[in-house]
Amino acid sequence: MQHPSQGVDHRAEVSVAQHPFAVIFGCSDSRVAAEIIFDQGLGDVFVVRTAGHVLDTTVIGSIEYGVDVLGASLVVVLGHDSCGAVAAATNALTTGELPTGFVRAIVDRVIPSIVNLGGGGPGALGSLDPAVLGHEHVRHTVQMLQGYSRSLAESVTSGRVAIVGVEYTLADGTVHLTEAVGAV
Ligand SMILES: [Zn+2]
Repeated sequence: MQHPSQGVDHRAEVSVAQHPFAVIFGCSDSRVAAEIIFDQGLGDVFVVRTAGHVLDTTVIGSIEYGVDVLGASLVVVLGHDSCGAVAAATNALTTGELPTGFVRAIVDRVIPSIVNLGGGGPGALGSLDPAVLGHEHVRHTVQMLQGYSRSLAESVTSGRVAIVGVEYTLADGTVHLTEAVGAV
């Protein structure tokens, strides 16, 4: 870890304008802090996080802002192993139990990523490795970003932006590439 871009001089330099090179859209999990795990500093990355990296309109708007207005050329969807949101969605599909309050909205937005895995049907998900479910959720999130956002899709087609999905491993800090669209 080099802790770049975190000194007083750099702070003053970026106070007038920001030009992050990447948008990182990750899970809110307290162990998956984007700037820390990728060793980035002030002004380096534009970070958007929701539990289970679930999308809604304001999330997509934030990502579009990072790309279209701030000029980031890379969008990273950052998932991880043992994700509680993926586990909650799996539990909802296998037992019918849904969380209360607005937490349910999180689970509702993970379910489409995994509902058809394992051949569908009750109990199908229970036989799958949880890592497979997390992997599919990252992959699906990358595809949904491109599908929902016209401007992101156009930026990918024109070759200005790439979207990648990666999975972080909590125990050893490694990151593996899951999905990539555009010129990486
Ligand atoms: Zn998570």
